[in-house]
Amino acid sequence: MTSLPLVFDAPRRARPPRHLADLSVEERKSAVIELGEAGFRADQLSRQYFTRFENRPERMSDLPAAVRERLGAALFPALVSEVRHVEADRGATRKTLWKLHDGTLVESVLMRYRERLTVCSSSQAGCGMACPFCATGQGGLQRNLSTAEIVEQVVAAARIAAHGELSGRPVRLSNVVFMGMGEPLANYNRVVAAVRRLTDSAPAGLGLSQRSITLSTVGLVPGMQRLAEEGLHVTLAVSLHAPDDELRDTLVPVNTRWPVREVLEAADNYAARTGRRYSIEYAMIRDINDQPWRADLLGQLLSGRLAHVNLIPLNPTPGSRWDASPKPVEQRFVAGLQAHGVPVTVRDTRGREIDGACGQLAASG
Ligand code: SAH
Repeated sequence: MTSLPLVFDAPRRARPPRHLADLSVEERKSAVIELGEAGFRADQLSRQYFTRFENRPERMSDLPAAVRERLGAALFPALVSEVRHVEADRGATRKTLWKLHDGTLVESVLMRYRERLTVCSSSQAGCGMACPFCATGQGGLQRNLSTAEIVEQVVAAARIAAHGELSGRPVRLSNVVFMGMGEPLANYNRVVAAVRRLTDSAPAGLGLSQRSITLSTVGLVPGMQRLAEEGLHVTLAVSLHAPDDELRDTLVPVNTRWPVREVLEAADNYAARTGRRYSIEYAMIRDINDQPWRADLLGQLLSGRLAHVNLIPLNPTPGSRWDASPKPVEQRFVAGLQAHGVPVTVRDTRGREIDGACGQLAASG
């Protein structure tokens, strides 16, 4: 295990080509007009893309062929192409490896539950936050994803589900979690624009509800403060993993810049501004952060806050010397938090066998 530097600014790379999903409704209209077509064509394209999940111009049969050719080439470049997918849980979990236009690889994971269908999307290729227990963090940051590269992962998931590929019958995508590769708040503008595309009502966007979108962060306080002012009501999740700065400095290196107290204050501010309860993610690492006294300290910290704890049994990653906490230790930790009246759930380990669970995405070709 190496200790990597923190990287906040992604290396500059050639920009991915412009795609319809990069553009706001007004920008789409101007783009279409600039390409010499009537403005209403923008609406038709949006409808194809956001309600039928169609990104192949040749299939957009309500548009004349000449228009399809001109607008399609300009606004629907192939941004993400599937390299392969692997399934687990008898098809209920599917991890897809995507190749981007410049050969960069990213992964996303689709998870079908009884009452919801969630896609876990990447916001960056790699990650610069260097958390030592996370495979993505150990691989470093390649680059930011564009808005459309983020949206495309979600639209692809919606398409797969709508075509009945998951369970033999059409299903609607209901939730998006930004818990794939990358730190979403380190790619702030593009991620927020993507959230708008996902939540704007059709045909401007996918029409998902804001609360069904979860943005998970290591605790980039300035980004959290900015997000609180966006007027979006997405669910915020904070990767805490330790209640004390001494340990958190080592598990989530960005803690050396924004310590526990400041992160929780920023989360409280988000809750106050949006009325939304936030979640605290806490990977249970054997003999590292799972002691009863840490449960007690975390319980004290969170008691009275609009927060809920999601414990994540540590998933194995290459080269890691750490294990998940034994179940009885986990149960004691749960009880320790409940003693302070803090709501707790334990996250399932979906996709672990296909390296598709939390912290396992490495996108190796
Ligand atoms: N960068 C953001 C988004 C990634 S979300 C963030 O860190 O919040 C992925 C979640 O899985 C984070 O809570 C992360 O800390 C957690 N995680 C990383 N590696 C893990 C592992 N090996 N086992 C369990 N959870 C892990």
